[in-house]
Amino acid sequence: MHYVMVSPTEAGGTSEFAFTYHYHEPLAVGQLVEVPFGRRTSLGVVTGASTKPEFTTKPISSLLDIVLPTHIVALGVWLHEYYLASPAAVWQTMLPAGITRKRRGAKPTADTFAIEHHEVTLTKEQAAGLATIRQNKHRTHLLHGVTGSGKTELYLDLAREAIENSQSVIILVPEIALAPQLEARFRAVFGDIVVAQHSRQTEAQRHQAWVKAFEAREPRIIIGPRSSLFLPLAKVGLIVVDEAHETSYKQEQAPRYQAATTAGKLSQLTEARLILGSATPSLETRYLATKGLIGYVRLAQRPDGLPMPKARIIDLRDKDLLSQSRFISTPLLDSLKVTLAEKRQSLLFINRRGSASSQICADCGTVNLCPNCELPLTFHADQMKLICHYCNFQRSPQATCESCGSSGLRYLGGGTKRIESEITRLLPQARLARLDKDSATPAYIQEVHKGLQDHSIDILIGTQMIAKGLDLPNLDLVGVISADTMLHLPDYTAAERTFQLINQVSGRAGRRQRQGEVIIQSYTPEHPAIVAAATHLEEPFIATELETRRMLGYPPFSHLLKLSCSMSTQSKTHAKAEELAETIRKITGVTVLGPAPSFLEQTEKAFHWQLIIKSPVRARLIEIARSAPSGWTIDLDPGNLL
Ligand code: ADP
Ligand code: ZN
Ligand code: ZN
Repeated sequence: MHYVMVSPTEAGGTSEFAFTYHYHEPLAVGQLVEVPFGRRTSLGVVTGASTKPEFTTKPISSLLDIVLPTHIVALGVWLHEYYLASPAAVWQTMLPAGITRKRRGAKPTADTFAIEHHEVTLTKEQAAGLATIRQNKHRTHLLHGVTGSGKTELYLDLAREAIENSQSVIILVPEIALAPQLEARFRAVFGDIVVAQHSRQTEAQRHQAWVKAFEAREPRIIIGPRSSLFLPLAKVGLIVVDEAHETSYKQEQAPRYQAATTAGKLSQLTEARLILGSATPSLETRYLATKGLIGYVRLAQRPDGLPMPKARIIDLRDKDLLSQSRFISTPLLDSLKVTLAEKRQSLLFINRRGSASSQICADCGTVNLCPNCELPLTFHADQMKLICHYCNFQRSPQATCESCGSSGLRYLGGGTKRIESEITRLLPQARLARLDKDSATPAYIQEVHKGLQDHSIDILIGTQMIAKGLDLPNLDLVGVISADTMLHLPDYTAAERTFQLINQVSGRAGRRQRQGEVIIQSYTPEHPAIVAAATHLEEPFIATELETRRMLGYPPFSHLLKLSCSMSTQSKTHAKAEELAETIRKITGVTVLGPAPSFLEQTEKAFHWQLIIKSPVRARLIEIARSAPSGWTIDLDPGNLL
């Protein structure tokens, strides 16, 4: 008799990943099987051999004719151990639903537009960067290149090398808005071996893509969202995480994995090269590069020699500038008019997240901070209170500003629709398009894209999704409606995120021989994050941020665990959270923040509270998470603390 470890794909517990079963012949790692589990039969994955255990084992019921690549199995085990995800969560993410069923051909996904490939001669900087990567001193490289510096050209060269070695390539892109353009560029070079994945694929399409990857005889280039990491490709030679600093690489449901980190694990398992591409790398990634743990390649110039657009910061505290509109300052409006008259395009960026917001003084820019944590208090309209989401400090909103006595206190906010109607009023002749989470279907993104290319759109208004990647030849002006909205979110990464976003969105302006114009509106125009993004002098800002993190013990100098729970009443939720916090506070080597209400404390049926636990030792956090009572949501390396 042979004993093997099998991970049942329906097991929901987080403590065990695989259980011992027996079979009359040896089985390969990755073999899909059916096993009795509880009272049912479950699909299972063989994760390894086992010795005969003390207890009696159950037999494997049957074998399927699928053996997963061993690196996929190892990646599944790692997801469980590193993020404390249950086998069910892991396998539901890694394997298509109904993997055992034969399916008829699914409808292929939307067609993409075609572009021609123009062979370029690499600039000195690009060539040197490529040479560094090819030296293979490190398997992972941070490719730190300003927007438009030609990172994609390097991806193309590295992909060619992998394909020539019969190895597949995985290119992760953070938002669906970016995929079509990148796909078109790769398709122009590599043709049909380029396969695009979308996060909105149907189950059937997903299944088909999985089977195709599994059965592929020749190497492929996969371009897609974070789940593309889990395609069962035989050999992987290159993984690219484009815009690697993007927060959307963190999955917000179990398994709560970070795709760039997971790509690192996959590259280790497959010995594939890993490129983390970004114009504004996260502090964590920069820190790894500084310490020499990963390689570093810098592209500081654009190949066309154009300088990065310089940004103008508009001080919204100056009321005279808001005489024509509450949201659009006169300088921004004037520039919009000029751009329109010159038959060029503009982009208006609205930084919007969450529905609650901070209270800011429209006269002096002061934001109400928590006296304990020095983080912005969040306004909760339902309770008419300002609340700190780290320590639960509360107070009523004031009528006048503490610093200057002004009664002009405002709540930050204002969505895309509001700005759209404002622009319609101010510039009725302009042709507008709006792109945000509500409107962004893949078809609509394509349409907007086309509209921008053939210039049937003059002004594009949008959120985060328009900040990145779009290469728009006719775009001259970028306006940031309010740089403060994200700056004053109660999160330790708020300044970094603001810097990144403004940087990214300004990078859209001025390509192809025209220097663009960037206008940033802000109530706190002197804030280092805004100044750094506007002037492109980032080093001092990054150094200060890093020092702050070191002092306060935030990543990269510690690891974080977010534990959250939901109950039907506020007092019950609070009590439950306090009880767990009390237990954890007794553990040495960790710091507990909270409990406090979550950023969105109340949803339809429940109240949400959370605890943040910090430790320099990640294993400590895993232990704590393992011993958390049921009903708690475990999030290791949370993408945000909101
Ligand atoms: P990134 O990916 O860093 O944003 P891209 O690779 O998209 O930059 O390059 C921006 C633009 O510059 C593209 O239109 C690209 O074709 C062009 N480009 C990149 N490298 C070169 C080069 N060496 N010579 C000429 N044009 C280049
Ligand atoms: Zn004030
Ligand atoms: Zn606080």
